[in-house]
Amino acid sequence: MKLLAVFLLYASIREAIAVTTNREQRRDTAAFDPSRYDSSDIIYRDVAVIGGGSTGTYGAIKLRDMGKSVVLVEKEQVLGGHENTYIDPTTGTPIDFGVQAYWNIPVVTDFFARFNISIGPYGFSGYSTTFADFTTGQTIPNFTLNYNLLTAYNDQLNKYPDLSWSWNLPSPIPDDLLMPFGQFIEKYSLQDSAYALWTITGGVTNPFLLDQVTVNVMKWLDHAYMDETINGNAVTTTKHDNGELYVKALAELGSDALLSSTVTAAQRPEEGGVSLVVSTPKGDKLIVASKLLITIPLLVGNMKPFDVDDTEENLFKKFHYSCYYVGLVNNTGFPGGYRYLNAAANDTYNIPHFPGLYFINPTIEKGIYLYWYGSLTDLTQEEIESDVATVIHRLSNSTQEPNFLAFASHTPFKLEVTADDITNGFYDQLYALQGHRDTWYTGAAMISHNAGVLWNFTQALLPRIVA
Ligand SMILES: Cc1cc2nc3c(=O)[nH]c(=O)nc-3n(C[C@H](O)[C@H](O)[C@H](O)COP(=O)(O)OP(=O)(O)OC[C@H]3O[C@@H](n4cnc5c(N)ncnc54)[C@H](O)[C@@H]3O)c2cc1C
Repeated sequence: MKLLAVFLLYASIREAIAVTTNREQRRDTAAFDPSRYDSSDIIYRDVAVIGGGSTGTYGAIKLRDMGKSVVLVEKEQVLGGHENTYIDPTTGTPIDFGVQAYWNIPVVTDFFARFNISIGPYGFSGYSTTFADFTTGQTIPNFTLNYNLLTAYNDQLNKYPDLSWSWNLPSPIPDDLLMPFGQFIEKYSLQDSAYALWTITGGVTNPFLLDQVTVNVMKWLDHAYMDETINGNAVTTTKHDNGELYVKALAELGSDALLSSTVTAAQRPEEGGVSLVVSTPKGDKLIVASKLLITIPLLVGNMKPFDVDDTEENLFKKFHYSCYYVGLVNNTGFPGGYRYLNAAANDTYNIPHFPGLYFINPTIEKGIYLYWYGSLTDLTQEEIESDVATVIHRLSNSTQEPNFLAFASHTPFKLEVTADDITNGFYDQLYALQGHRDTWYTGAAMISHNAGVLWNFTQALLPRIVA
């Protein structure tokens, strides 16, 4: 009798689940029914681009140049992603506080020229560096930073020319690429350059630099970045307004760019294009596109609305990320003429641990300082600004209250996978997704964190997408 009751209960629960699932499926399917939308809310395009950061903007503009119709979906109110520009309200001076410089290669110079934006050499000078342990405020005497030492690291990097442009790894993958970076530093006697390397690894926080898989470091401190740092082969806009590129791109895209918008549901059959329901400030829109180009961080949570299948989800769930924040502050009490670099007095190679600051640098506008902050876990703006204020008090010995002018979260940053996943062919499997269910991928998770490299990768991908 008891058994029968349990069976009946089990059957009724199953039936209830089936009814709910069917109801949800019906509702989901209905969301893609064009007859439910006003015709002005249905957008038919050749390609839907998701994410309007560096690569999404580049991809959308270039696809239009190729004669394709596009729609771009960006969750923020502006295009640009990791690019942040603050306009000083008093002087009108632009201050870049996210992306600073671009690799001086044709794909970059051509893109700026396309928008008639003047660029010139990147560099900062005119101030001295104070090295201080930000946890105590104590300056570290007789400490130097010599970027010439980076050539020893660069010599090692040069053994792997393919890494510049791809995730094509030698087969079998050399142990050197898979060992923790701290071990790699010891093996190749790079101890003298370890601190200099840390200063340019902004945003690589999880895991700690010395515990990073060496190839993951090499995909950040890559040939592009080394060419920029060692040879000075970097450019920036002459107005110090990297945001201009994205303002002009947005003007050109016009209503083809849906800002403050996200995809809430997707249908991606094996072939025959994609349908996306997009939540926008003007209500839901239905996008019907032949192809989908995804440029956003490929984390499971971010990709959930895209109807991911098991193959996709099993790859995306392997990614972990770093936490990275930037901001501008004035009223610091600093005397001027100095930048402050964090250097741990008692830690290996003087590399500080996180959460904490990389540096506090003067900007083009007198009295306004730029800071970059790394953390192992997600932090709030309030938590970060409180910590930055404490450090400023320590360094300045002033009672002035710092005034925070701008803040941007760049979390999730630097998506990467473990040495085991790399050994097991993660990137071959990820790249095999290209074209799967009419969906294509570019962006930092796929290739690199250098805009020049990303644009180059995207440029090569576009003909395959439209083929
Ligand atoms: C502080 C900082 C400084 C940097 N400096 C440089 C530099 O000087 N030079 C350089 O070459 N590189 C620099 N980088 C590296 C930078 O990551 C790359 O240059 C490049 O911006 C990465 O482009 P992306 O398109 O992959 O990502 P992003 O530019 O981040 O673009 C992704 C876009 O997708 C949007 N998005 C995310 N999720 C969704 C969603 N679900 N739906 C819709 N939209 C979504 C985001 O809002 C964002 O706009 C810097 C990075 C940071 C954080």
